[in-house]
Amino acid sequence: MKEKIYLSSPHMSDEGFELQYIHRAFDTNWIAPLGENVNEFEREVASLIGSKAAAALSSGTAAIHLALMAAGVGEGDIVFCPSLTFSATVNPVIYQNAIPVFIDSDYETWNMSPVALEKAFEKYIKLGKKPKAVIVVHLYGFSADMDRIIDICRRYDVPLIEDAAESLGTTYKGKYTGTFGDYGVFSFNGNKIITTSGGGMLVSNNEERIEKTRFWATQSRDKARHYQHSELGFNYRMSNIVAGIGRGQLKVLNQRIQRKKDIFEYYKQELGNLDGVQMMPEQDWNKPNYWLSCITLSGYVRPLDVILTLEKENIESRPVWKPMHMQPFFEKYDYIGSDAAEKLFENGICLPSDTKMTDGDLERVCKVIKELWR
Ligand SMILES: *Cc1c(COP(=O)(O)O)cnc(C)c1O
Repeated sequence: MKEKIYLSSPHMSDEGFELQYIHRAFDTNWIAPLGENVNEFEREVASLIGSKAAAALSSGTAAIHLALMAAGVGEGDIVFCPSLTFSATVNPVIYQNAIPVFIDSDYETWNMSPVALEKAFEKYIKLGKKPKAVIVVHLYGFSADMDRIIDICRRYDVPLIEDAAESLGTTYKGKYTGTFGDYGVFSFNGNKIITTSGGGMLVSNNEERIEKTRFWATQSRDKARHYQHSELGFNYRMSNIVAGIGRGQLKVLNQRIQRKKDIFEYYKQELGNLDGVQMMPEQDWNKPNYWLSCITLSGYVRPLDVILTLEKENIESRPVWKPMHMQPFFEKYDYIGSDAAEKLFENGICLPSDTKMTDGDLERVCKVIKELWR
């Protein structure tokens, strides 16, 4: 069997930065709870992206959950979400007993369509059901059309949550994704651009709200000698060991982005001219982190042909996210738009984008794919 090529796997620094921070935690016995690595990891992420405050959490999903709570989303509230995303964007809406309304994508960004978003507002305002929050996602590290989305949210005076789980390091018009919304969310899950083995971060310029989410994330313990609770709590904080991995990974973020970009460029050069192949579109306002290199196919070769052919060669690829409004669990919720999300799902593939791939590996992937066009 040929050596496995992954879609996107953990890639620790060559220098061993991660272990240095972990050793520091061991030396001071700050294994848990919290500690220097957590505080510094929060400070470093906030300072990198230009956000006033950050809370390190156990996952990106936990960060979305707390962002919804911080935005005041509760039972029966409407939340507008993109349909084309990973389920973790939407699950926390259900944790809060709120109601997701799914919004279509556009072909220019694959992300939330401002046109469909405007339509959704018109419909729900007319019904007297103004949404409590909008969640926007920057899919595969490519930013959404933020100016237009922000303009709509401001006009209707609704808080914006940015699910930037896939887009740490991506900038839109020179500003980091995650800093446009009232709240921004990052994930450090194993396959993301940098990983802590599992973890997340909630960022905001509202320091008081971040302080409040830290309180919720540590079981909502009131300031009292005895254990006293006036609110529902969660166990959502990041450990000091995990944060050490994050601090080490942050040092190689730019290196990872550069390699991801090179991978995208290589695919563009090798596959971009094949009949029916389209790269995920790049916009001039967008400086993506290129987390995953994605293509769509409009010709005779279908995505499943590519995925299965790669699989036989021990190469991992996968379909683009299946839209939420097509999911058995979520299909009962409203969907606004046309069929862009569905078409992107039908025609899209995420190609291997592992930064550990050598140039030889990339060549191998493209050779296998190109065989299908012969
Ligand atoms: C990975 C991901 C999440 C969830 O992050 P976890 O850290 O795995 O909980 C949320 N939204 C999107 C778009 C993601 O890709």
